Amino acid sequence: MRGDKIVFATGNQGKMGEIREILKDLGLEILSMKEAGADPEIVENGDTFGENAEIKARAVWKETGGIVLADDSGLVVDCLNGEPGIYSARYMGEDTSYDIKNQNLLDRAAGVTGSGRSARFICNIAAVLPDGQVIHTEAAMEGILADRPAGSGGFGYDPILYIPEFGKTSAEITMEEKNRISHRGKALEEMKKRLMEMDWEGKR
Ligand code: IMP
Repeated sequence: MRGDKIVFATGNQGKMGEIREILKDLGLEILSMKEAGADPEIVENGDTFGENAEIKARAVWKETGGIVLADDSGLVVDCLNGEPGIYSARYMGEDTSYDIKNQNLLDRAAGVTGSGRSARFICNIAAVLPDGQVIHTEAAMEGILADRPAGSGGFGYDPILYIPEFGKTSAEITMEEKNRISHRGKALEEMKKRLMEMDWEGKR
């Protein structure tokens, strides 16, 4: 396969919808890795969001060629030395509920006030191009650790990241509001710009 399709290395259908919407102006077919027939074993053992995104994209690219994108994201809490960071999905165990994970992070930050509670979601996107070259984009959604969880929208750590711009947590804003300012939305928009500016085999 050449660069006339884009494969996104995720099994998450929610993400695929968001990605198709943002990348539609590229005029290329966007496939999930399953739709592209790829199912590699992926060991996310990088030390940064960028390394992990690249590991995922490269593993799928080895099976499909063409253009493969992958993202890696998580919550970074400054007063907890950047935890849970790249371990966000695995923090306290994959099967632990986010009610428990969220309360645990708030308990660990108890006593920290004001700007000391700064935190953000970060998303890094890696794109492996048809010639094997890799490019990255990264973006953040800045916030403050909330005093208590609030809201039922979104997923994961959304109820504990208070977004000053909205005066609400990330779980209390609408999906449209979140997509506009989210780490993943911004990193994807930037990736779209980079791909439109670049030349690759098969570009229309
Ligand atoms: P992954 O990039 O899909 O592996 O996601 C990493 C983890 O980061 C997720 O499982 C969530 O715990 C957390 N995370 C990433 N983005 C968000 C978000 O927008 N809201 C809440 N949690 C997030």
